[in-house]
Amino acid sequence: MDVIAVQPRLHLFRFPVGQAYLWSDDGELTLVDSGTAGAAEELVLAIRALGLDPARLVRIVLTHGHEDHCGAAQELTRRFGAEVVAHRLEAPAIRGEQALPPPVLLDWERPLWERTRGLPPAPPTVVDREVEDGDALAFGGGARVVHVPGHTPGSIALHLPLHGVLFTGDTVASVEGVTLGVFHVDREDARASLRRLSVLGPSVLCCGHGDPVTRDAAAALITAAERDADL
Ligand SMILES: [Zn+2]
Ligand SMILES: [Zn+2]
Repeated sequence: MDVIAVQPRLHLFRFPVGQAYLWSDDGELTLVDSGTAGAAEELVLAIRALGLDPARLVRIVLTHGHEDHCGAAQELTRRFGAEVVAHRLEAPAIRGEQALPPPVLLDWERPLWERTRGLPPAPPTVVDREVEDGDALAFGGGARVVHVPGHTPGSIALHLPLHGVLFTGDTVASVEGVTLGVFHVDREDARASLRRLSVLGPSVLCCGHGDPVTRDAAAALITAAERDADL
C-alpha cells in the first residue's frame, strides 16, 4: 500500500486495487472509503506511521458499496467504534441485505472489468448513519453529501467547501486524466452526476481511482464533463 500526502490534513492510501482517503481534524480522523477486505491492519499501521491515533477514527464514509471501497470498514468499526456513513439507497447492499445492480459494461470496459475481478467480497457491514443529498457531516469544516447516482444508485460525493476538496467516489476517475469513471449501473445518470459535480469548483479532486488532482482541478472537472457531453 502506498501513502500519499495530498495536504497536511489529507492523505491517500492506495491499494493494488482501490484507495481510501484519511482526513484529520487535529487528530480526529475520518476515512473516506476503506479499501478491500483484509486491508484494515495495513491501514492501522499506516495511520500510526503518520503519527496519528487510529483510536480517534470517528467515522468512515463509504462513497458506495463496491468491495474495493467498503471492504475493510466492518473490521475498522469493530476495532475502533467509528460511525459508518453511507447513502440511504446504498445501505442495504453494504449491510449485505441485497446485491447492487450489476454495471452495464461498454465493450471497451469489458477487458478492464475482467482484470479487476477476484477481489475479496466485502463482509456485511453495519451502516450507522444513512444520509441523503445535502446532509452535513462534521469534519473538514463541514462536509456536504452530494448524491451522485449512476455508478451505483446510492453513490455519494463529499464536498468540503472550506478547503475546496471534493471526494468523488467512482463517478469520476483520474487514472488517464480526469474523466467519467467506469463500470456504471446507469451511465446516463452517472454523466448527469459528473455534470453536477463539475460546477462545484474544487481546488483538490480526490477520485475513487487514480491520483489526487491538486492543480487546475476545477478546470479538469469541467473539461471532463464537457468532453463527456460531446460523446
Ligand atoms: Zn465502484
Ligand atoms: Zn472503485
